[in-house]
Amino acid sequence: MGYFAGIDVGGTKIYTVVINDAGTILGRAKIKVGQDTCFDTVLGLMNDCYHIAVNNASLAEDQIDAVGASAPASVDRRRGLILHAPNLEWKNVKFLAPMKATFQKPFFLDNDVNLGAFAEFHLGAGKNYHSIYAMFIGTGIGGGYIIDGKIIWGVNYTAGEVGHTVIKIGGQRCSCGNRGCLESVSAKSGMIKFMKKAVDEHGQTTLLEKLEPDWRISLGSSALRKAWKKHDLIVMQALKRSADGIGIAAANLISITGVEAIILGGGLIEELDDFYLPRIKKVMRKNTMANGAKGVGLRKARLGDDAVALGCAWFVRQPENQELLF
Ligand SMILES: [Zn+2]
Repeated sequence: MGYFAGIDVGGTKIYTVVINDAGTILGRAKIKVGQDTCFDTVLGLMNDCYHIAVNNASLAEDQIDAVGASAPASVDRRRGLILHAPNLEWKNVKFLAPMKATFQKPFFLDNDVNLGAFAEFHLGAGKNYHSIYAMFIGTGIGGGYIIDGKIIWGVNYTAGEVGHTVIKIGGQRCSCGNRGCLESVSAKSGMIKFMKKAVDEHGQTTLLEKLEPDWRISLGSSALRKAWKKHDLIVMQALKRSADGIGIAAANLISITGVEAIILGGGLIEELDDFYLPRIKKVMRKNTMANGAKGVGLRKARLGDDAVALGCAWFVRQPENQELLF
């Protein structure tokens, strides 16, 4: 029996799982990331989190065969560089030597969303398909493209970055610096901008002022749901815009890649799937040519908050990935 660890490093927390050969989670651990996000500090926290998860799985460290990790970043595997992780303020971090010294085992590190998509393909909602595109919608929008069980990285490691495909020429400025990206329309950050404009510039009112007084800064999906249930006009407009953007992006993905299924996850979908899925399906069908979307699956992701950590561990478990480990 082999055992594998997966460490999901986010902007505010680190989450680790330990699995067996079958992908069953035997132990978990979670640690907060504080103000100090320099790579060495976070690597120390990753190691602490890993120790606790191994212990919670009732295993010893020498029983762990390999460690997979993820970062909210673009990662150049060939050069061993984390190119840019805006949430952690990392730029061009050389991760190979420090990680090798810390874990002293074969390891792997990649972009978090790629590994979340990888997990959904093998262990979640994508199990019965040969190719999937998984899109995770929350504050931002990330995605990963998997064919025949393999992550498609693309020439500059940016394949699958659907959040930064332009769907509105000359649209709102996006966090990436471009204008009109899907993220600036359909992610929470884009929805907040849209609603702020309606309230602050056009004098409209919203129940969010009561439900979530800080909605301009941080907007929970459950507050959005409550406002939607009460037919709050601005929230309904923002949600429709968001779903329509995702529907168009899904149609474009199908037209370009011919993918068998689109898997949708992330906070907004978890909370509002009964709104999002039917509307996205309709828009997706309308915006593909002829029978383009016929038989293409549109599914809700199944692995929730476990997806990325599970993907990290499952990636290093696969015999065919051993040559990619560091
Ligand atoms: Zn963008």
